[in-house]
Amino acid sequence: MNELAESIASETEYKIPFRIPDKITIDVVKKNKIEQSIAIIERALKPNRKPCLAFSGGSDSSVLLDLMCKAGYKPVIIWADSQMEYPGTQKHIESIAASYGLDLKIAISNRTPLEQWEATGWPMLGKMAARLWMQKNRGMMGFTINVSECCRGIKIVPARLMTKKSGCNVQITGQRGKADDNLRGLRNIKDGDLYFQVKDNIWVANPLNGWMDGEIKGYIQENKLPEHPARTRGAKTIGCVYCGGGCQYTNSGYRVLRKTWPEAWYRFMVEWEGGLIILALRHKAHLYHIRMAVKEIGGLDYIAKNMPWLFDFTRKKPILGYNK
Ligand code: SF4
Repeated sequence: MNELAESIASETEYKIPFRIPDKITIDVVKKNKIEQSIAIIERALKPNRKPCLAFSGGSDSSVLLDLMCKAGYKPVIIWADSQMEYPGTQKHIESIAASYGLDLKIAISNRTPLEQWEATGWPMLGKMAARLWMQKNRGMMGFTINVSECCRGIKIVPARLMTKKSGCNVQITGQRGKADDNLRGLRNIKDGDLYFQVKDNIWVANPLNGWMDGEIKGYIQENKLPEHPARTRGAKTIGCVYCGGGCQYTNSGYRVLRKTWPEAWYRFMVEWEGGLIILALRHKAHLYHIRMAVKEIGGLDYIAKNMPWLFDFTRKKPILGYNK
């Protein structure tokens, strides 16, 4: 066995150190926070703009939908089906739309996720980290990574096209700026809560900008909003199950998916060969050499069945938690 194959095959499962779970703080949402969000919506809808709500079924967009409906708005709901959703997502979204009496439109990319990744790069490491990785490794590793283009191709553009097709001209999103990630925080400083997106010729408003995690949880609890069914099977996030946005952290979605939906995990790691990309990132090796080493070990299928933990993280020692 060559040195790289030996190094890959010798890794044992990374045991995540025991940590007392962070205390979940649930904050009561202050009246002025809600008023501030409504003020952004009011500003976004003048003069006579027609809103649609970019809805994922996750916590933030559920809060925004409830808040808008309680304030008397009736947005068209647009759900971008990423083709990487937990079973039950569509049903969950349809039932929420029906409970508010709203029109639901489903947007879907004309590319499959795999076609998107082959064209623009795999969705790994997070937006900023993927950019930095590409600056150092472009053209040298036999593959590319790009989280921003994946999001744009799979969700953002299809949702905005559907927005316009539905006769709407302002898209309301549940983005929370810096509370989502640093890149969004920077963008929010640049664009503000309401801006015209020239590239897609559309207005975009982010009324939840500035809301903290505890306030989102507080609003959900206080208003008894329904929970996505995948949460009960252990899913930490709703949406793209194959996203490697946090794959260098101990709560990597790939490790979660291995336990919550093994069939989908196998499809991604073995059939779509996502496992090769994870190993290439972890061992900082060219895809060709990883492919040869995996062949020596017995193939992706062999690894998936006998050493599945090798696909959990893109670092030998993952970083604790998930620092957005
Ligand atoms: S969340 Fe991840 S997998 Fe989903 S569209 Fe964005 S980058 Fe791609």
